[in-house]
Amino acid sequence: MNFIASVLTLYPEMFPGALGLSLAGRALEAGTWSLEAIQIRDFATDKHRTVDDTPAGGGAGMVMRADVLAKAIDHASPPGDPRPRLLMSPRGKPLTQARVRELAAGPGAVILCGRFEGVDQRLIEARALEEVSVGDFILSGGEPAALVLLDAVVRLLPGVMGNAVSGDEESFENGLLEHPHYTRPQEFEGRPIPDVLISGNHKKIAEWRRAEAEKLTRERRPDLLGAMPQPLVK
Ligand code: SAH
Repeated sequence: MNFIASVLTLYPEMFPGALGLSLAGRALEAGTWSLEAIQIRDFATDKHRTVDDTPAGGGAGMVMRADVLAKAIDHASPPGDPRPRLLMSPRGKPLTQARVRELAAGPGAVILCGRFEGVDQRLIEARALEEVSVGDFILSGGEPAALVLLDAVVRLLPGVMGNAVSGDEESFENGLLEHPHYTRPQEFEGRPIPDVLISGNHKKIAEWRRAEAEKLTRERRPDLLGAMPQPLVK
């Protein structure tokens, strides 16, 4: 079954954007996945097509209205739609490769992109939205976050990546950051490629890569090691 993404946004022109090119773009053309960008404004009820209003309790900025968003979501994802409903949000659970894998194994996703200060809390509760963050920083809107999420998902769909093996050794797939890479020329500005990599000894190469991956992870992301099933041997 193919992956179906429905994105609810005030800027449908931002889609497919970068996902119309390269691997994701080819997969989109081939029908491996599909993308529908829905204009939230089409579900406004007044003649000005208003989607936001001032925050209850006062303060700066505007809040997206629950009633307008609910109509948009119910249109994109009628009852019985098996796809998860996501809200891109800096308050959400940080996106992980594990969640990306789960999404890629599923039927698709309905993705709501916030703007302004965010969306009315009652909408999040009433439509059981799963809040997803792409990092501890603030974007001006959920669209770039949705593109990030979809890019990560689409590259895992069957047939999208030319070399399927390269997926398994990637950073995070085994709880480690990936080892460093080298290619020709053999010497660059006085720096040679590490000998072991041109030794032809595949066992040694695998050991070296594993050791480098562990070293990098220890230096840069010790938090990832805490999540490893077994303690690492030095
Ligand atoms: N006032 C909010 C930020 C609103 S930013 C707060 O302080 O939490 C506007 C919209 O951009 C959000 O509704 C969300 O959809 C999107 N967004 C911003 N940062 C994001 C992030 N790190 N991850 C996912 N979505 C984000």
